[in-house]
Amino acid sequence: MGKDEIDAVVDVLKSGQLAQGKKVDELEKKFAKFCGVKYAVAVVNGTAALHTALFACGIKQEDEVITTPFTFVATANSILMVGAKPVFVDIDEKTFNLNPEKIKPAITKKTKAIIVVNLYGQPADYAAINEMAKKYNLIVIEDAAQSINARYKNKMSGNLADIGCFSFYATKNIMSGEGGMITTNDKLHYEKARMFRHHGEKQNKRYEYFDLGYNYRMTDMAAALAIPQLKKIKSITKIRQNFAKIFNDKFGKIENLTVPTISQGRTHVYHQYVLRVKKNPKISRDELQRFLKNKGIQTNIHYPKPLYEFNHLQFPVNHRSKFPVTEKASKEVLSIPIHPHLSGNEIHHIIDTIKEFYCV
Ligand SMILES: *Cc1c(COP(=O)(O)O)cnc(C)c1O
Repeated sequence: MGKDEIDAVVDVLKSGQLAQGKKVDELEKKFAKFCGVKYAVAVVNGTAALHTALFACGIKQEDEVITTPFTFVATANSILMVGAKPVFVDIDEKTFNLNPEKIKPAITKKTKAIIVVNLYGQPADYAAINEMAKKYNLIVIEDAAQSINARYKNKMSGNLADIGCFSFYATKNIMSGEGGMITTNDKLHYEKARMFRHHGEKQNKRYEYFDLGYNYRMTDMAAALAIPQLKKIKSITKIRQNFAKIFNDKFGKIENLTVPTISQGRTHVYHQYVLRVKKNPKISRDELQRFLKNKGIQTNIHYPKPLYEFNHLQFPVNHRSKFPVTEKASKEVLSIPIHPHLSGNEIHHIIDTIKEFYCV
């Protein structure tokens, strides 16, 4: 946290208005402008953003929502929160995002929406997905928790579908400890989202409740933290992209590793920098991870278990045999550090250690 963020929070503490107030309004206005959308609604976290978006789009019990099994669990849990059923489809080998060709066979009479995740910070194939959605009259929700500031054909993430959902959790590219945001150009979705955030109350109709709602309000302290970071997001992204360029150059030459690929017309904001460690009976992904750990380099696996492996998400339509690409990815991916505060020495330590492991 820089001085800007600390001063901004102290100002809120001194102002006497800690809960949702002027700072939340300011963040919403700036965020909508940044994404190029008409409306933004701040909420308490990214999971609440997804839940609110599904409710605002009218998704309810018995409906089916198509999504990817290779994502953080919140994506699918939000579907259960409105009583609907997550239907998983397999991912694309190169980008780890939803494979648009797998969507059509999964559509039934009950399908109402698709939640598209821009995994690791790269937008999915929205041209194909939005076209399919139009044809079958489906809502498209963008899970943009990892893709703030990414672009798809000159549109910003958050403006690529009917409604976008962001997270400002502590590890995300901009953060407020906990926080979330919904973006949309649709006035009705906007109004429903605002009501849902505060017990179903309409603006200026105090203690009148028009529908079910929750307390999903963001605090002014969290908003005050996010505002200065939104200002810096372009430079934060640049640093991540520069680190990725250095890694691509070095690791692209190692036979056992596959570096991230970016599909045409998109930018990648590298929320995670993910290597694919090709299966090799002698040297596995997990061995590389252990080796790095012993040299003081923390890595992570996003994600070790596809979501259809968890009991509460196991519906008959989600049978494991349908997901060969997801199965393989979960065994091969390894996220290495790409935080903007890494030093040049740390970047070189990561490169040298991985080269040492492969004896190159
Ligand atoms: C972080 C994340 C979420 C959930 O956001 P929280 O703020 O942690 O609730 C949802 N989807 C994806 C893809 C995420 O990475």
